[in-house]
This record gives sequence, structure tokens and C-alpha cells, in this order.
Amino acid sequence: MPKALVAGCCGQDGVYLTRLLRSKGYQVSGIDLGGRNSEVDCFHSADLTDRKAIRGIVAESQPDEVYFLAAFHQSSEGPRISEEELLTQSLEVNTLALCHMLGALADMRPSSRLLYASSSRVFGRARAAVQSEETPLAPVEPYGISKMAGMQICQYWRLSARFFAVSAILYNHESSFRPPYFLSKKIVQFAVSSARGESSKLSLGSLSAQVDWGHAADTTRAMWLILQQTEPTDFVVATGELHTVRDWLDEAFGIFSLDWRGLVIENPDLLNPDRPSATLCGDSSKLRQATGWRPDFNFQGLVRELVESEWARQTNNPLGTKVAS
Ligand code: NDP
Repeated sequence: MPKALVAGCCGQDGVYLTRLLRSKGYQVSGIDLGGRNSEVDCFHSADLTDRKAIRGIVAESQPDEVYFLAAFHQSSEGPRISEEELLTQSLEVNTLALCHMLGALADMRPSSRLLYASSSRVFGRARAAVQSEETPLAPVEPYGISKMAGMQICQYWRLSARFFAVSAILYNHESSFRPPYFLSKKIVQFAVSSARGESSKLSLGSLSAQVDWGHAADTTRAMWLILQQTEPTDFVVATGELHTVRDWLDEAFGIFSLDWRGLVIENPDLLNPDRPSATLCGDSSKLRQATGWRPDFNFQGLVRELVESEWARQTNNPLGTKVAS
């Protein structure tokens, strides 16, 4: 039975990946802060920045595959924190904790493989309209800087110690596990509440922002495929399609044959001025050619699944009679 260790197992991707790995017969150990993922075989409540704790967990779990998903990040519409805290915490979790993990694996489990969850934010304000593994890394904010450093550290271990460490450059991916302050969650919660007759307004920072949005189930499947490759190499994981926030509103409200105009207010003050957003769209041809990966969810399917899940959460009933014909 192969053994996997998922660092950040209680987050959105951690939950999807745990399910995928278990369905493939893996014994799954997980690490996370306070939360709990009841689906892992062995849960370690630990802070990944604690080098000693990480060494103990690696010694005990002896993983064949490690998925480094834990991250410190800030949603563009989430609560704001100081620059210093953002930079320090990003580097501590996204970069330094990765060093602890790689060091422990190289010492105690050199035959294992590690996947690092990087981000499209490593491309900063990319000049290329569509980014690939060849696009220069040019991050412009702390999260992207810490992810770029993490990628380069994986590459360093790969080249200097011949350790199988690779990065998946992930574009936005959503699911019902997103916390309430994420844009996708805000929109589906509001669409369902409106469909149920609750009258209120929703303020969003930008309606015209364009994003390459995928589904977490597709993204985590790509992570597994990347670690099964013979040669260690980095891959972009993206749908290659851009959609606007307006598209989200159209799709989500369209399920109930409702019009969101008049209910949603665009308020640029909500956007963090320190985080100017770039339009990033990924070219995942390398991944598709090497592994045969294709997303199962298109944009409509993604929005629909989130709306159905939110409807079930709010009503305890499956979405049925209210669906537009
Ligand atoms: P989540 O934030 O949902 O999950 C990350 C998990 O790691 C959380 O449970 C978090 O706990 C935990 N964690 C954070 N810091 C530590 C720590 N010091 N020690 C132990 N656990 C910790 O992220 P996602 O699942 O959405 O994303 C997975 C990875 O993919 C991340 O690295 C992210 O940066 C990257 N990525 C994700 C994208 C997306 O759209 N989802 C896009 C691009 C990249 P807590 O919640 O308590 O902080």
C-alpha cells in the first residue's frame, strides 16, 4: 500500500486530495494546524514551521509521496493584514516550512517524491497573455514571492541532491470548501439566498476581473498525475479559459432564472490597492500531453456544482424544482 503525506490536509485541496488518494488505495497521513480531516488514516496536528515536529512526522509516516499544500495567503476580498505580517508569514509557511520538509525527506526518506503547490501569482503581471512553464517568474507581492522561492528551492533539491521535488503552478480553483470570504462562495451564497426570497445586496470589488477558474477536484487529480511521472518536472495546471465575475453572477443566478442586476453593487474600494490584480491565464498543454489530463468540469459545471452544494447546505434539500428549464 503506497503511503502519502498531505501537508495542509484540512484545506480545500487537502480534502479533495485525501479522497482521491484513498480511492487509489493509499494510506494517507495528514498534517494541519488546529482543524481536522477525519478522512485521513493518521492526522497530525502540527505547525509546519516547527522543524522538529516535521522531522518526527516524516520519521513516523515514512511517506512515498508528499503533497505540500499548506500555505499562508490572503484572499483579495478577505480581511487585510499588515505588509510585514504578510511577508513574514508567507515566507515562513510557503518557503521555510518547505525547506524543513525537504530536509527531513532527503535525510529519512530519500526515495520519496514531493509536490509543491505553487501559484500563477509567480508570474506577477505577466506580459504573455497565456503563461506556461517557460514564462519568466516575476512575482509582485509577498505570496507570489514566497511561492517563487518555494519553486526554486524544489528545483535546487532536484538538481543538487537528485531529490524528486516538483512544483504544480496552480491557477484559481474552487469548490464548496472555500471559506465564506472567497468570491465564489460569496456569489453562490448570495444567489441561493436571493432565490430563497431573502432580500439584500451584495458588494463586490470588481465585476469585470477575469480569472482562469477551475475545480479543485480536477486540480488535485492533476497533482497526483504529476507525481507519477518518470522525470521530475514542473507543470502548469489551468483550464486556459478566462471568465469574469459577471459570468459567475450570470451562471449562478441563471440557474434560478433570476437577474442579479440591481442586487449586486460594484465597489472598487473593497479591492486591496496593494494587490493590483493581473489577468492570468494558464497554458496546460505540457500537462495534457504528458499525462492525458483534462478538466472534467467546465465553467458552467463548476458554478452549478457550487450552487447545488450551497442550496443543499441552506435548505437541507437537493436543488430540484427551482432549476430553470
Ligand atoms: P487552503 O488555505 O484551503 O489550505 C491550506 C491548509 O494549510 C489550511 O488548512 C491551513 O490551515 C493549513 N496551514 C496553513 N499554515 C499551516 C502551517 N503552518 N502548518 C500546518 N498547516 C498549515 O488552500 P487550498 O487548499 O485552496 O490550496 C492548496 C495550495 O494550493 C496552497 O498552497 C495554495 O497556495 C495553492 N494554490 C491554491 C489556489 C486555489 O485557487 N485554491 C490557486 C493557486 C495556488 P488554516 O486554514 O488554519 O490556516
